[in-house]
Amino acid sequence: MAVLRIVTWGDPILRKKSRPVELSEIDDAFRAWCRDLVETMYEEDGVGLAAVQVGKAIRVLAVDTAYGETNVKDPVVYVNPVLEIEGGLCEDSEGCLSVPGVRGKVVRRESVNISWIDVDGNPHRRENVTGLEARCLQHEMDHLEGVLFVDRLSPAARSLAEGKLRKLARQQGA
Ligand code: ZN
Repeated sequence: MAVLRIVTWGDPILRKKSRPVELSEIDDAFRAWCRDLVETMYEEDGVGLAAVQVGKAIRVLAVDTAYGETNVKDPVVYVNPVLEIEGGLCEDSEGCLSVPGVRGKVVRRESVNISWIDVDGNPHRRENVTGLEARCLQHEMDHLEGVLFVDRLSPAARSLAEGKLRKLARQQGA
């Protein structure tokens, strides 16, 4: 297994819309790469990681929002996830491995339903996912559309983050 390099703010790939994974692409090499994605998420202390964040613009997410509390690794790899958002709005603080050093409050929906296929190509669906997991899934799904959480900050919070973002972008160019 390998820890992959996380791409950060200023890298244009983070703005790309990720493409679906074809069933014909799901093989041992793909599964091994997904294990690396999961390993990278744990290594970087993330609760979720989108494939595009390690430089592959395909619709794959790794998520484990419970590990911080349980200390038991129970990752889910979502291939071609489809999210339905529901419920009321809720606001909480978010950060992103691709935007290190920046945190801010983002409004999300309280509850989501998600459908996906696993790394063997089998379909799954979960309904009424709430809490941190629902927030994380909405954050990660945004990555697949080239959207970053800082895009969703209030104008005041965004301008507070602006200095750090410029610094990150400069490091990118270096
Ligand atoms: Zn993120």
